[in-house]
Amino acid sequence: DEIREKRLKYLSDEKRIKAVTVLFSDLEGRLHLLDYDKKFLLGSYENLTFDGSSIRGFTAQKESDLRLGIDWSAFYWVPADIFGNGKVLVFGSVIDKDGTPYSGDLRGVLKKYSDTLYAEKGLTLNAANEIEGFLFAGRDAERKFHETGKFEFINTGGYYHVLPLDPLRQFIDTSAEVQRSMGFQNEKDHPEVAPSQFEINYSYGEVVAAADQIQLYKLLTRQIANNMGYTASFLPKPVVGVNGSGMHTNVSISKGKTNLFWDEKGQEQLSGYGWEFIDRILTHALDICLVLNPSVNSYRRLDPHFEAPNQIKASATDRGSMVRVPIGNSRSMRVEVRSVAPDANPYLALYSIFKTGIDGTTSKIENLRQAERYLPDNIYSAIEDFKASKWIGQILGADVQGRYTDLKQASADRCPRALGTFVKAPEVQYH
Ligand code: GLU
Ligand code: MG
Ligand code: MG
Repeated sequence: DEIREKRLKYLSDEKRIKAVTVLFSDLEGRLHLLDYDKKFLLGSYENLTFDGSSIRGFTAQKESDLRLGIDWSAFYWVPADIFGNGKVLVFGSVIDKDGTPYSGDLRGVLKKYSDTLYAEKGLTLNAANEIEGFLFAGRDAERKFHETGKFEFINTGGYYHVLPLDPLRQFIDTSAEVQRSMGFQNEKDHPEVAPSQFEINYSYGEVVAAADQIQLYKLLTRQIANNMGYTASFLPKPVVGVNGSGMHTNVSISKGKTNLFWDEKGQEQLSGYGWEFIDRILTHALDICLVLNPSVNSYRRLDPHFEAPNQIKASATDRGSMVRVPIGNSRSMRVEVRSVAPDANPYLALYSIFKTGIDGTTSKIENLRQAERYLPDNIYSAIEDFKASKWIGQILGADVQGRYTDLKQASADRCPRALGTFVKAPEVQYH
């Protein structure tokens, strides 16, 4: 197509570019970077294969060969001082032997769902995430944690409250600047409530681009922190006694220029369509919990004393609710899913949220939006719910449901079985 031809021409004309980094994510959302020599890629982009057997959650040994397609519309120029000279990034999609999107590549699954909704119903899925994280002292903070049981803050912090040239502020400024230079629309960035905690917010994007942005954001903030001698961590609850990190996920659906979630006369000015979306999320809250909170550590975050939700309900104000309806206008009206953790696979999380909100069922639970129902407080019960869920089998397929369950069971088994308490060996995931 047109974009592909443009990119190919750009690549072959641009002498400074030597290699192209192709990005894809495994089933748990870990980002993988594969560098192709530019000349090789130009000649072989329709014929890229790789061994999927060593990627977590992908194929078993016997069926290990997968193909890699290039999504030329997801192409990024990157600043050389962060990523090295002469490289560009492009997202890839994993393709099965028969040419269909590979079921373990949730980016492909999400893209297909979003493209189909657009083609058949003219709907556009929008998302914007508020990703929180911590900046810890030392490049090896996560390794050191395993020896000492502690992460070291780099400042004492406070909401919005640091000097302009505090190291945390410098880290945030650099991250924001890099994002801008890559073409992302930032809205605001600031130190968060806990010491050494940061947050960057973006403007709305089409759902696949929004998920790509999360992956790029984590990649570049980790690299920037590393360049400064620090560690950027997206563990949901790295330090007991202070706020954890969330990845509040704001979603809306539009048709043409109309935001279908807006109704001036609706309750909280959210349309009936928007409230039905919420009802389906609340109905399936236990089915999708393991997707939104994928690690042992993420269940330690879900505590309303630290502004994180633990209740399966919807509210305009209560931050202990899984779903919130923020004040909006005809353009910005949205639904905020607050239970999402920053170590979730963004493609899987966004796919599950939209698929559930649009195609799920609504249960007859009395007073569903305000019922006294709670999210699991440990991963073991979330795994049970996920494994037994008919809805998950329906939207992800039994194969992916089984593989994801096995990965999560294995990571739960690696941790001491200490429910609700903070133990010395949280699961540290690098992605
Ligand atoms: N850090 C809180 C959380 O874990 C969110 C604070 C906020 O509302 O921004 O979800
Ligand atoms: Mg925040
Ligand atoms: Mg929020």
